[in-house]
Amino acid sequence: MACIVQKFGGTSVATLERIKHVAEIIAETSTTKQVAVVVSAMAGVTNKFVEYAQNLGSFEGDADYDSVVSSGELVTAGLLAITLKNMGLKSRSYAGWQVPIETSCNYGSAVIQSVNSTNLEKDLQVGIIPVICGFQGISAENRITTLGRGGSDLTAVAVSDSLKANLCEIYSDVDGVYTVDPNLYPQACRIDKIHYNEMKEMAALGAKVMQEQSVDYAMRKNVRVRVASSFVKNEGTIISSDVTSKKFNGLAVTQNLSQFKIYHKLDSHLPIIELLEQYLIRGEILKTSEGKFSILIDRIKIPLMQSILSSKNYISNVKREMTRRNFSRISVIGSELTQHDSEKLVSILRETKIEVFYCSIRKNGINLIVLTESLLKSIDVLHKNCRLGR
Ligand code: ADP
Ligand code: ASP
Ligand code: MG
Repeated sequence: MACIVQKFGGTSVATLERIKHVAEIIAETSTTKQVAVVVSAMAGVTNKFVEYAQNLGSFEGDADYDSVVSSGELVTAGLLAITLKNMGLKSRSYAGWQVPIETSCNYGSAVIQSVNSTNLEKDLQVGIIPVICGFQGISAENRITTLGRGGSDLTAVAVSDSLKANLCEIYSDVDGVYTVDPNLYPQACRIDKIHYNEMKEMAALGAKVMQEQSVDYAMRKNVRVRVASSFVKNEGTIISSDVTSKKFNGLAVTQNLSQFKIYHKLDSHLPIIELLEQYLIRGEILKTSEGKFSILIDRIKIPLMQSILSSKNYISNVKREMTRRNFSRISVIGSELTQHDSEKLVSILRETKIEVFYCSIRKNGINLIVLTESLLKSIDVLHKNCRLGR
């Protein structure tokens, strides 16, 4: 029998009604396939727990922070298993440590080292639907870890790989991956198929529909992924290697960047940038001079950046710069992008009177910094000029 992993994100399990609906999707799938389920915390719950921990001065890096912020998943897994049993199906919930999913000791952004799916396989063989808490792991120090925000996607991909599942389905509130966040730009188009490389870049630069590490894991282990909606039925988006790359695939957006000045004792700022990249903090460097540089970062990453840099003795100060200007980043995602492409995009924006403050280029992405007030117009201009519409 084919095996499938179905992951349901926060909005898909936000209420008991939504949980019942999700249980129906699982029940239908289970008539023809073995199903293992991965769940997130109910919408808003993890944010609340992050706020509690941070108010007490606990941030990513502290094992107790992970105990707090991981706990929402346990509630959802239990509620969904109960609902499935109420429907006459066999089911049981699993915390990450019960699978077990073993990880590094990087609390707040742990890396999966192994998934032992023996228990899950035994369940599947006797018709039990395992409901696994996303986002959670266990470290060699016998502590609960978390896999970074959005980490349930990673749990789903890693469990799919371990079970050798035929497909990993990621259910969310959007019916697939779009050329740009459809909640920001309603004219965005659903992408039928996207290559891991381009999806990874979209995720890295702000498209949170899939967590970046999960796409990377899927690519390394060749896990076929389908992004779909638990609200409406359609084919969604397939993420695989079996896709011909296009010049331009889509736009990723990070709004309301925060500006910091970092003072250091090194000869160059580059090791600091590399360190931040290791923690997936993708800042844009605005200015560098001896012993200091200015960086724009996603404000969600501020506590993580501060906690990483506070432990380094070569950092002398990390200062938030208050400016009246509010910047956002639009990243044009594609393949084999060149300096010429980036110059062309900048000049197209400038022709429409949009000021581009900074531009950087990566192999699969061109980053453009604009004022947040001109973000929507910039998206419209780029979406049309890169011919992302159908
Ligand atoms: P879940 O809680 O199910 O994990 P997320 O909130 O993490 O869902 O991801 C879904 C959200 O991703 C959507 O509501 C949408 O606003 C956002 N998103 C950002 N970029 C894209 C994109 N390119 N395509 C689809 N959704 C996107
Ligand atoms: N609940 C976690 C978060 O909000 C994990 C997830 O939703 O994927 O980040
Ligand atoms: Mg998510």
